[in-house]
Amino acid sequence: MLVNSGNLREALREELAAVKITDIHTHLFAPEFGDLCLWGVDELLTYHYLVAEFFRWTRMGYGEFFSLGKGAQADLTWEELFLNRSPMSEAQRGVLTALNALGLDVGARDLKAYRAFFDGLSREEFIDLVLELSGVECVVMTNDPFDLVERKVWESTTTIDSRFRGALRVDVLLNDFPHACRLMLEQGYEAEESLGPKSIGEVQRFLREWLERISGLYLAASLPAGFRAGDGSVRARLIEECILPVCEEANVPLALMIGAKRQVNPKLRLAGDSVGKGDIAAVEYLCARYPQNKFLVTMLSRENQHELAITARKFPNLLIFGCWWFLNNPSLVEEITRMRMETLGLAFIPQHSDARVVEQLIYKWKHAKEVVGKVLYDKYSDLLAANWTLTREELARDVQALFGGNFWRFIKK
Ligand SMILES: [Zn+2]
Repeated sequence: MLVNSGNLREALREELAAVKITDIHTHLFAPEFGDLCLWGVDELLTYHYLVAEFFRWTRMGYGEFFSLGKGAQADLTWEELFLNRSPMSEAQRGVLTALNALGLDVGARDLKAYRAFFDGLSREEFIDLVLELSGVECVVMTNDPFDLVERKVWESTTTIDSRFRGALRVDVLLNDFPHACRLMLEQGYEAEESLGPKSIGEVQRFLREWLERISGLYLAASLPAGFRAGDGSVRARLIEECILPVCEEANVPLALMIGAKRQVNPKLRLAGDSVGKGDIAAVEYLCARYPQNKFLVTMLSRENQHELAITARKFPNLLIFGCWWFLNNPSLVEEITRMRMETLGLAFIPQHSDARVVEQLIYKWKHAKEVVGKVLYDKYSDLLAANWTLTREELARDVQALFGGNFWRFIKK
């Protein structure tokens, strides 16, 4: 069936509604991880994006707020951000999108009724419902081998829900190596801060064994805005001498999320991190020097987006992904997606959810689809205006590539 300017909008709407999404970066956990898997309206209302927005309005002390239970914290953010004024920010709007899609009466503003709805479901039932509503087929977790609670689950569980896949997060290794050494030693890996030949072997063994244990799809780290590669620092050496050899041997990408400025206001805890402009030279160096390695890269600063897209034109071993964290605003997602598509065609991953609470999948993907759909509509319209023919199957193929296919192709490459 041919798509034309008359039926393009409807065809796109249907394909976006039907597409099966692979969400390549989240902080969600399979149900086997118990309380690590966050869900429910109190978690939704105390998401760190909303906590930061709450403190724009309150005079309450940080300590006082954080000493309260989740429910009491949620009461406060609900009152301040949703009742005392209209919920205009993207994170605020997201709460409404999620509750509305779950069939709750958003107009009634009845937090008690929302809590009762969640109380009536088990974690497993709720995950099924949200994956169905959001169209997400596969959720990639963030798995921290240095986290004791998580480690215990991996050591005691043989199978996990197959809709959830592992990704090995190595932030502690790269951002606090002395601490990582102590934690590795507890697990029987004799790595020392001096990073001599024996330690390099032990760090590699640690990574290799963990990657295998979690069937990790990739290794990942979030890195500060000041991240430099190849500068001989411990961090750079760990990447070049430990991480990249293990990634190459297992044929898995290294995902780099560059541009976090940690704890600008520590009193805000998880909400206290900010953004800084990263150095694209670090990405260029790694992609050029290690052509046998694959890199998934996202950067946090809006100012880095154009040069990152250009860098992806230069290196087939670089796949750029997502509009991360502070970039996940519809206006910025649209700008960035448009620029990426004009620069790279369909060879990128437009979005990941970064969800920390299960039902955030609903709003993050609904909003992302609306924006990506808008860009696709304009781009297909341009092709049709040039008398290009487009079939429904081709349109479905392209949409599937953007929302999952490109990732899996890169993983298997
Ligand atoms: Zn994240």
